[in-house]
Amino acid sequence: MQEYPKNQLEFERQFPTEQSCRQYLMTLRWPDGFRCSKCGNQDRWDQGRNRITCTRCRHETSVLAGTLFHRSHLSLEQWFRAAWWVTNQKHGVSALGLQRTLGIGSYETAWTVLQKLRRAMVRQGRDLLSGDVEVDETFVGGSKPGKRGRGAEGKKLVVIATEIDGKKIGRIRMRHIPDASASSLEGFIKDSIAKGSGLVTDQWGGYNGVKSLGYGHKRVDGEVVGIEEVVPRVHRVASLLKRWLMGTLHGRFEPKHLDRYLEEFTFRFNRRTSNYRGLLFYRLLENSVIAEPVPYTKIINGKSA
Ligand SMILES: [Zn+2]
Repeated sequence: MQEYPKNQLEFERQFPTEQSCRQYLMTLRWPDGFRCSKCGNQDRWDQGRNRITCTRCRHETSVLAGTLFHRSHLSLEQWFRAAWWVTNQKHGVSALGLQRTLGIGSYETAWTVLQKLRRAMVRQGRDLLSGDVEVDETFVGGSKPGKRGRGAEGKKLVVIATEIDGKKIGRIRMRHIPDASASSLEGFIKDSIAKGSGLVTDQWGGYNGVKSLGYGHKRVDGEVVGIEEVVPRVHRVASLLKRWLMGTLHGRFEPKHLDRYLEEFTFRFNRRTSNYRGLLFYRLLENSVIAEPVPYTKIINGKSA
């Protein structure tokens, strides 16, 4: 693992130039040293502006190819500053705040940068939740209460899974789902929770099939233990999520971007005990170099890469 800055001063010392940022990304991409993707050669020529040529087969590549920063007109210094700022805000960030921080003219650029960083906060195929895991759904947004299985005007259904860590909450995962049907719930469960884990849910029929998927299953009857005690950890996370959506986005989030916000929340939550904000910054950059570059048109449509 590379060294990462632990405060503003260290950040400024570690990344004073474009070159220092580029060097850092190279070490993240090739922890064991550069290797040509065509011939495996380890010697290279650096040709400026992030270009690298293999000394043997002359294959040309960019340090930024396949990373979040590819084909961006922002400098790496600006990207690093954005990533540092995003991870150092305790609760969340806005495009306007980022625009001011970077001193860039375009709100649209700031917004795109922010969405890209949000996307990099969740690593594809990262570790699945395991052990005993609570699962339940909740509605976010809108003003009227929603009805399960059907939805309600302006409301979005979010399924939440939380690891049970004694009395505490372990890691979490969440996803926006169209309805609380078995197929929606099972798709999320399979993608998020390791087989063999013990699921804890209420009596909702959408969870009937999870045993046949290879999970343990404990159903809790809300009429016996009290509705708040069925999946208390999910309830706690749901209320934190709603408060965060209200506070950060003032409740006016665009539904098509809900998944990005859920990813940001999950990233922050799962690293809430990280001692250093710098570690968050490191993880974000680490994810950035393996995230596929996403064209702007895909981002504004809210599609996943
Ligand atoms: Zn080569």
